[in-house]
Formats: sequence, structure tokens, C-alpha cells
Amino acid sequence: MDLHDKSFHFSAKRIEALQRLHIYDSDDLLSYYPYRFDTISSSPISEWKIKEKVTFEAEVISRAITFRNGRFASTKFEVMHEDTVLKITIFNRPWASKLAMNSMITITGIYMGNHKVTAMNYDTKPLHDHEAVTPVYSTKEGIQQRTIRASIKTVYEVLQNEITDYVPEEMIRKYHLLRRSEAYRKIHFPESLEDTKQAFRTLKYEEFLRFFIAMELNKDEEGLLSYKQPKNIDITKVKTMISCLPFSLTKDQVDTLNAIINDMRSNVPMYRLVQGDVGCGKTVVAAFSMYACFLSGYQSALLAPTEILAKQHLASLKSMIKDSSISIEVLYSAMNTKEKKDILRRCEEGDIDILIGTHALIQDDVHFKKLGYVVADEQQRFGVEQRKALRLKGENTDFLLMSATPIPRTLAASLFSDMKVSTIETMPAGRKQPVTQLILENSFRSVLDEVNALLEEGHQLYVICAAVDENEAFKARDVNKMYVNLSKLFYPRKVGMLHGQMSSDEKQSVMDAFAKNEIQILVSTTVVEVGMNVVNATGMIIYDADRFGLSQLHQLRGRIQRGNAVGKCWLLTDNKSEDVKERLNVLVKTTNGFEISYEDLRLRGPGDILGTRQSGVPDLILGNLYEDTKMIEVCRKDAKLIVEHCDQTDYISIIESVKQRRAQSAYID
Ligand code: ADP
Ligand code: MG
Repeated sequence: MDLHDKSFHFSAKRIEALQRLHIYDSDDLLSYYPYRFDTISSSPISEWKIKEKVTFEAEVISRAITFRNGRFASTKFEVMHEDTVLKITIFNRPWASKLAMNSMITITGIYMGNHKVTAMNYDTKPLHDHEAVTPVYSTKEGIQQRTIRASIKTVYEVLQNEITDYVPEEMIRKYHLLRRSEAYRKIHFPESLEDTKQAFRTLKYEEFLRFFIAMELNKDEEGLLSYKQPKNIDITKVKTMISCLPFSLTKDQVDTLNAIINDMRSNVPMYRLVQGDVGCGKTVVAAFSMYACFLSGYQSALLAPTEILAKQHLASLKSMIKDSSISIEVLYSAMNTKEKKDILRRCEEGDIDILIGTHALIQDDVHFKKLGYVVADEQQRFGVEQRKALRLKGENTDFLLMSATPIPRTLAASLFSDMKVSTIETMPAGRKQPVTQLILENSFRSVLDEVNALLEEGHQLYVICAAVDENEAFKARDVNKMYVNLSKLFYPRKVGMLHGQMSSDEKQSVMDAFAKNEIQILVSTTVVEVGMNVVNATGMIIYDADRFGLSQLHQLRGRIQRGNAVGKCWLLTDNKSEDVKERLNVLVKTTNGFEISYEDLRLRGPGDILGTRQSGVPDLILGNLYEDTKMIEVCRKDAKLIVEHCDQTDYISIIESVKQRRAQSAYID
């Protein structure tokens, strides 16, 4: 229900405050869970510390006297507690003078030493009524805890009889869950910590159940699990081609490639995810599996998130697959019409064996003669629908997803039920890790000498900005301005710039110039995030680093560790918040992609790494995808059961409510 609803009697000011906390309706408010609980309990006087908050029950043993000084009043009286006389002062409560002698009261205040207490509150309720658990909510400046508490109370009181249960009866009984209404009561108005535990268990179950139902509903399984014509692959030809590489494959690369080829030879369509950190060599694996597919007489398609990456793939595939009978081409939307038409025609006639491309590959005008294999690189960048659209251009195609952002195993299985996972953990021999330094200002002058030394050694530098143009609202360093500034600073070295608003030809010529070291410093947006492979570029400065996700920064710095020289990455930020510092320090401390994506998952939710953000899969508030493995297992099974028997009466309401949320989120996006 809308917060403006008359039954809540919320003032405009209150509504504005709640909206600042991203609370827009009654559901948001009820699921605005406390982040911790304060418990009040009394300790013996001997343990009291000066300036510490204390709560105790005591007997009034003197008449209270009030002193006035203008509008200011202080009231003093004495009480007996644990056979000790305590002197109590309370400010601006003149009515305390009416306290009856020998009455029992409960006081909360600050211990001032010397048996003196400055009371903040007192009342006549016994102590055990105070030993309650108080929820503490996260808030923003100017919004008080009690405003949040009071708002939740109002909404709860108005709606408590209308809060329906979405979790099916069957599960409520099986796991001894609370009713939703009761769970809300116990989490927002708990009487004990036990209450909050029960409530969290129920709410977390529901949250995971919804999450996995949404995942189930999104599952890309059309045409899967069916029979396919096994591919006939001459493995010796693949091996011979691999032996021409200037390096030998790592064991994980070999294992992954073997697994893929076995899948291709089987009569079930392949569904496999290859995950491995930036630079582990996924492209090589993709290249030779596509070559294997070519040998079996089928076409393959390689989907890449950006034009730059698509072109890069074209170049590296051509350099690795030295077979004059294979035809490899690239397709992207900015291409000129004539070229595009030609490629579309040749692809349809079966004249192209490997077609690499961006989203342009998914368009309706792309037809293949005999598509047998689809690879999606950086798969989390594509929506479920996009990946599927490409897959369906062939019949029972084999399908490979590649990602540098590792997905927890428990989740991989829910993206696609029969998905197999290969992990490339070993890095190519001798591969170094870049050194990362956090600089707490948005300038690199403190390390200018180091930057100059790197250039002096003949290495090249990336400078990454969060914006293209100057923008009042966004207040970040922008490519245009930095291009001008750095051109002066580094004169006579050549500075170039790169961003998504440039034409495809302009981009290409800048990239070529950078690859040839005609440009030494490249000022760019994150368009270089994936793919750019310039071995000599070993330095990277990232302005406004706090604006990027950790996995994204990790990918970015992957650009500067393509060769043997140790890369150097400087993260700049003038954001003073401790959270930001802690978050960016993760990158300083580790180069392990798994750890980094764990942090991203914790801080930003699963949508970013699963590619499900656009598909309306809800983010998790209480659940943790790495830690709650037991509950995840249970919820995954239950969600599957519910979706499989979706017309069972008991299951309809949760499915409908998940679908409704999806529809809403699609609308908001
Ligand atoms: P990513 O997994 O990030 O996509 P790439 O496939 O782009 O990584 O590989 C990164 C770099 O490592 C490329 O320059 C590639 O040629 C090189 N490379 C890949 N495999 C090996 C290997 N086994 N030994 C040495 N270099 C390799
Ligand atoms: Mg890659």
C-alpha cells in the first residue's frame, strides 16, 4: 500500500524521510529489517563504569527537589539500589517532584561516578519489562530511529490482519515456519532474541524461495535435454593446430577443452560454463573448440559484449587457427550496410565457419546454414533472453558460457539445471599479478614519479574515467577534460582517448595506434574493460574508483597484466567513507577473482554476476549466497517443485507474487 494511504496518517515530511531510505510502500517498510538488536540488561553497581549507560530498579527514598534556571529545570532525588544510596539528577522533568516516597521505579541513565546517576528516563514499570530487545535500523542523517520504528508500528497495526502468507502451507508446516504476520511482529517488536531468530529464519526462507522461483521461471531450457546429432571430430587435427601455438596450454585449459569436445561428440546438447579469472586463457579454449566444431562440419557463433572485444577475438582467432580453409568473420551494428549484407548472406549460405559478433548477432536478420555451437563470452553481460535467442538460431546447438566472474556452484546449477561447470584455476606459467595501490585523493600527483618511470621504461598507460563529458550531477573526472590535461602534462608523449560515443572507425584507429605504441597514454572509459590486449601497457590509473564495482575494477586491471612485466594499478578516490576504503582495499589485498566476486555478491547483490538484473530476479536482503548453503539447497528443491507443479492451489499465490514483482522491476528498469 502507498505510504500516502489515509489509514496511516503519515505527514508529508515523514513520507519524504522514508523515501530517502528508499521506502516507498507498506511492503518496503515491513521488509525494512533491523540490522541489529540492542538488549538492555542490568549489571551490579560494582561493574558500572563512568559515562556508561545503566538500567536498574530502585526505591525512591527522598523527596525530589526541582531547581529552575529560566526555562531550564533540574530535579534531584535519592534512591536505594542494592543497599546503596544513589543520587539521581534528571533534567527538564519537573514533574519528577511528584515521585512518591518508597515507590519502586526503573531508571535508565548515565553513571557519573561517586554513586551519582544522570537519568535519561524513568518509569514505574518493573525492570523485566525493560529487559527487552530493541531493533536498530540503518538510517540517514536527520531521520531518527523512532520515526522508523513508529512508522513500522503504524503500518503493522493497520495491516496486520491483511498480511497474507505466500509460502505454501506444506512448507510452513514442514519447516515449522512462522506466519508472515507473526514474523514481522517478532522482527520489529521482539520480546527476546529468540523471537528475532525465529523471524529471520522464516523471512530468509521466503526470500530464498522467491529468489529461486524467479530463477526457475527464468531458466533458459527451451530445446534443451533433447537429442542432438553427435559431432564427428578429428581430434588429431585439433592437437596439431594447438602444437603450433607459441606456448603450451595449461592443464586446466586442456581438461576444459577435452570436456567440451566430449560434450560435442555426445548425443545430448552441451550446456557448459567455463569460469576462470581474467587472463587465464579462456579465449584459447573457445578458439579450439570452435575449430573442432568446424572440423565436424558445423558453423559456430561467438557472442562478445563489445565491438572492441569482438574485433580482438577476430584477430586472436585468426592468429591461432592457421587453417586456410576456415573462414572467420565479425559482425557488429556500427558496420557499414554493404559489408553487413555481405556477411549476412555468406553466413546464411554457410560460407562463414565462425561468426564473431556483438548483440548484432542476435538480430532477426542473422541466419545460419548449419549452426552447431554457440559461445557467449563474458556471459553475465547478456540477459537470459539474449543468450537464448542466439542459441535458437541453430537446432540443438551446443552452448558454452564463459565468465571471469565466478558463480558459486550452488547458483550455477540454478541458472541452468543441467549445466556443467569447468573452472580454469591455473594461470599460464610465469603469469604475474598486477600491484594495486589505493590513493585517497582524486589525483595521482603523489605517484607521478612512478608513473613517469613506467613511461620512461617504454611502457604504456591506461587512464580510466567514469564519465565521458563533464557533468554537474555526476561530478566525476571525464575523458574529454583529462585528455586535454594529460596531453599537456605528458607532452611530448602522445595521448589518445577512447569512449563509447566515438564512431567505430575512430575507436579502431585509436586502438590500433595504442597497440602500435604510437599512443603512449590512453584516456578511456570502461570500454577497455574486456578484451583489450596490449602487452606493453602495464600501467593503469583509475579515477573515481569508488564508482565502479569490484569485479569491474578487477577486470580493468586485468588489462595491464598481459605479459611478463608486473603491472601497476593506481586506484584514486576522494570519497572519505570508511566503507569505500574497505571495499577498495579488497583489491589491494587480493588478486583472487573468487574472493573479489564474493565481496561484490555481498555488497551489490547477485544480479551483477548472474546477468539476471534485467530479468526481475529479486536481490537478497537477509540471505547470503555463499554462506547459507543448507537453506539454499532446501529452497532450490522447493522452488523447483513449486514451479513444476505450478497449478497446485497451494502454490499459486507465491508464483503469482513473484511474477508480479518481476513485472514491476521490468517496468522500473
Ligand atoms: P581471458 O581468460 O581473460 O579471456 P585470454 O584468453 O584473453 O584470457 O588470454 C590472456 C592472454 O594469455 C592472451 O594473450 C593469451 O594469448 C595468453 N595465454 C592464454 N593461454 C596461455 C598459456 N597456456 N600460456 C601462455 N599464455 C597464454
Ligand atoms: Mg576473455
